[in-house]
Amino acid sequence: MIRKFPFADKPNTACFTCCHVLEEHKPILYVSHDDDGYWTFHCGESHTEKELRVVSLAEILRIDPSVADLARLDYGLYAEAKDEKSNWVVNRI
Ligand SMILES: [Zn+2]
Repeated sequence: MIRKFPFADKPNTACFTCCHVLEEHKPILYVSHDDDGYWTFHCGESHTEKELRVVSLAEILRIDPSVADLARLDYGLYAEAKDEKSNWVVNRI
């Protein structure tokens, strides 16, 4: 149950994900918040443009509520996890 929207951005803000997370229900293992403020949430593999999908922050949170833990990720940073049980490791993009 989500009481308060965890991101500073609006729930309908567009963000990027990939077909693996959206259509194949793979876990989100890569989250980035680039210098322009764009959020990306994907499976951790490399992608072609064709595999990327645009969704809202509200939708990505519904897909994986644990991304709320990264809602305060600063501009220019990304977080990666080895698998669903691993801790996030944050680095500069
Ligand atoms: Zn993917």
